[in-house]
Amino acid sequence: MSISDRFEIVGKVKTHRLNVLPAHHEVADPNKAAGPGRFPSWLHRALPKGPELQETGTVIEGNRLHTVCEEAKCPNRLECWSKKTATFLIMGKECTRNCGFCSIDFTKAPKQLEVDEPERVADSVKKLGLRHVVITMVARDDLSDGGAHHLAAVVAKIREEVPGTTVEVLTSDFEGNFDSLAIVLAAKPEIFNHNIETVRVMTPRVRHKATYDRTLSVLKYAKEQRVNSNMLVKSGLMVGLGESTEQVHETLRDLATVGCDIVTIGQYLQSDHRKLLVKTFVTPDTFKDYEEYGHSIGIKKMYCGPFIRSSYNADSILEQTIKK
Ligand code: SF4
Repeated sequence: MSISDRFEIVGKVKTHRLNVLPAHHEVADPNKAAGPGRFPSWLHRALPKGPELQETGTVIEGNRLHTVCEEAKCPNRLECWSKKTATFLIMGKECTRNCGFCSIDFTKAPKQLEVDEPERVADSVKKLGLRHVVITMVARDDLSDGGAHHLAAVVAKIREEVPGTTVEVLTSDFEGNFDSLAIVLAAKPEIFNHNIETVRVMTPRVRHKATYDRTLSVLKYAKEQRVNSNMLVKSGLMVGLGESTEQVHETLRDLATVGCDIVTIGQYLQSDHRKLLVKTFVTPDTFKDYEEYGHSIGIKKMYCGPFIRSSYNADSILEQTIKK
């Protein structure tokens, strides 16, 4: 299938794939609207058009790469790709974990790492003209280092080929292996990002293997052991899974305590029927409350809203945080 064929098909089903309904669709009580296909007004928006969307796809497909934009069915994909931004998903498009929220395919037998993947990622970064790139990965629990050396090699290749580009790594927890984390930190990314995903009590249901405390320990280690003293530590969570406001506040306090500089919060959307149901659609006012609360406890940059995802507008979030 060519890239243009693919976009034609996406175009035909875009309201389904993007979890965005046409503007005329209204829901009287948004919090009674949970479930596939029914969304409150603040989750409606116009879809962008333009040749950049296809150009981004052509570069990615030309280099045989995967993106979390596609694999996780991100609702921002058309917008980000139209701005010639994408988040590269390395080490395959199948994950060794099967989390309740994530639409990336699960496998017990992942493919071997591709030694030329760092080169292909760097080439795409160059062709897209990215000034900031987010590299994420599937959890590779089958590898003794969890894929740390491969991730570090990707960062090194970007440094070599596109020296002006800043790099954000959005990693797995490497099963809490600090030796693996040290390998990634030695590559000196500008941002180390690892998502806590949800509040403490919801973690066992939402995440297949990761634990809340292990995530905090990974973030703490990154902050304390960073090789690049300017490196920022970032994390993010989804809301709408049934958590309370106080539980979100508690999570923000925990993230502030371990030294997170940036926290993103976005609305969880069910990507397909096998995944966890949306319990509530969180209102824009509540997102604003989370943003204010995070800032009030010392987190430098909070970025919260229905469509916010960990890598959404990552370049401008980095800039804004540095300015602070
Ligand atoms: S928010 Fe991130 S994952 Fe989603 S489309 Fe944009 S770059 Fe891709």
